[in-house]
Amino acid sequence: MFRIFAPNLQLDNVSELSVEQVRALGIRGLLLDLDCTLKDYHSETVPERVLAWLDDMRNAGVRMCLLSNGKPRRIARFSQALGMPYVAKAFKPLPFGCYRGLRTLALPATETAVVGDQLFADVLAGRLAGLFTVLVRPTSPAEPWFTRLKRPFERFVLRQLNARRLPSTRLIHNLAWK
Ligand SMILES: [Mg+2]
Repeated sequence: MFRIFAPNLQLDNVSELSVEQVRALGIRGLLLDLDCTLKDYHSETVPERVLAWLDDMRNAGVRMCLLSNGKPRRIARFSQALGMPYVAKAFKPLPFGCYRGLRTLALPATETAVVGDQLFADVLAGRLAGLFTVLVRPTSPAEPWFTRLKRPFERFVLRQLNARRLPSTRLIHNLAWK
């Protein structure tokens, strides 16, 4: 029953996703969540390590687009700073933002991954849109109350998924998430 929440890959942070891995998976584009995925929720800047990772992906020809539920004005600022297009007000976990992102990248769902820190937003939206899904640990515990509220449920579902190793999870990096 939790299959729809199953991420294809679980990582500690975005920079663990390597160019080689992306190539091996046949992925040519990434839809990237911003808050708690690329940067801390309250931060106005993306850390150097993540900027270097974005450069690596870009140099390898991987297309990227921000995919956020945030307001357009704020997300546009990061879009400009990072030099990539954006989809704001994505309304994840609904899949429509992913569809917009795919159109922006001009790639099919089968060649695109969504990367984010929330099971009930990023992963679910990606799964509903038929994308490869990568779940990362939130960059920091500082989050809005409505996100914090969902975390215990996320942890419960993740434990169930990891215990069962559902066959739909093509590539589970078996981390003992607490
Ligand atoms: Mg997030």
